[in-house]
Amino acid sequence: MLRNMCRQLADNELAPNAGKWDREHTFPAAAVKQLGEQGLMGVTVEEEYGGTGMDYVAYAIAVEEISRGCASTGIIMSVNNSLYCAPVEKHGTPEQKEEWLAPFASGQKLGCFALSEPGNGSDAGAASTTATPDGDGGWVLNGTKAWITNAHEADAAVVFATTDKALKHKGISAFIVPYGIDGFSLGKKEDKLGIRASSTSNLIFEDCRLPASSLLGAKGAGFKIAMGTLDTGRIGVAAQALGIAQASLDCAVKYATERKAFGTPISSLYAIQHKLSDMANRVDAARLLTWRAAATKDAGRSYTREAAQAKLVASEAATFCAHQAIQVLGGMGYVSEMPAERHYRDARITEIYEGTSEIQHLVIAGALLKEYKQTFG
Ligand SMILES: Cc1cc2nc3c(=O)[nH]c(=O)nc-3n(C[C@H](O)[C@H](O)[C@H](O)COP(=O)(O)OP(=O)(O)OC[C@H]3O[C@@H](n4cnc5c(N)ncnc54)[C@H](O)[C@@H]3O)c2cc1C
Repeated sequence: MLRNMCRQLADNELAPNAGKWDREHTFPAAAVKQLGEQGLMGVTVEEEYGGTGMDYVAYAIAVEEISRGCASTGIIMSVNNSLYCAPVEKHGTPEQKEEWLAPFASGQKLGCFALSEPGNGSDAGAASTTATPDGDGGWVLNGTKAWITNAHEADAAVVFATTDKALKHKGISAFIVPYGIDGFSLGKKEDKLGIRASSTSNLIFEDCRLPASSLLGAKGAGFKIAMGTLDTGRIGVAAQALGIAQASLDCAVKYATERKAFGTPISSLYAIQHKLSDMANRVDAARLLTWRAAATKDAGRSYTREAAQAKLVASEAATFCAHQAIQVLGGMGYVSEMPAERHYRDARITEIYEGTSEIQHLVIAGALLKEYKQTFG
């Protein structure tokens, strides 16, 4: 039922408008509102806190279908669900959840997640944004967070800042930062290759005062919170990539059956069939890995490696399928009249954010070597 509902939304509301939103860099506000009304902005959040109370397999299915219609909407949804709501639900106090989770999970407000900085993305432990005690139990934030998805439309951010530089990554803490407070401003909107309907921007903090109640989780627990959140986020990005890969395959199959060359549909040519088969195999492999990661999380087991594998394989599948779709469409693949070129541009980011492919390889190999050591000593 959830998949059919998301599929209808994608087919009727998102896919017909995604090209226009992309060209005009328009945030799909009405569509995001609709997602909220249908329970898609807090899919896994408990109903008590405004969510839908479903599991991560359901979440992966929902993000895939929405991203199949519009990858920008897919990441707007994914960031709110897995990068904002998930850490607030897991680490927030009941009071924090009442104020900073319920309106976001129900879609009335939008959240973002601010870990990266201009000087460090992959090396997140080297955060230079600082949070210093203000003497009254509160904090003063200083620094710049970079590349933040949903930055221009959000109502609050989960921000990571160093509370004790000497402790390096163990001195990072997480904060819930509301928008509209003194000392907090936004940078310019980045002009991106893809996912152009979602905003990406710097968050700038200059002597920005926060109350004591803004600390999320324990002081010094921020790096652990960030890494755990990214494990969850990678299920979302894998599902987004899967949606782009599936949309590319759908577009290629449809075109191949309609387009004729040398008096026959190009779908009857071996070269084209081989491409369609290659695409379908990668889509299915990516989907199985994504659902495995989600099911492993749902079962309460460690899923760091599974999430990294899903994200790595699904993002490569998205890039591969979008590339092949353009080839199948020939000249029509290269113009914005057809969605293939947008899928190609959208696919690329899935290999970069929430940990680049190189970082996923490090995570996967690290887990593999640890398992080997545990088994063989
Ligand atoms: C559109 C967009 C949206 C984003 N949204 C968010 C967001 O909402 N919140 C947020 O916090 N961040 C966000 N990011 C930031 C994103 O997560 C980082 O860009 C990403 O983690 C890479 O960091 P970097 O850009 O600093 O690259 P770098 O870390 O400088 O990496 C450059 C290259 O070096 C490689 N590299 C680095 N370290 C290693 C290593 N140890 N081993 C092997 N290779 C390595 C990388 O893989 C990459 O190829 C977003 C980025 C973009 C472009």
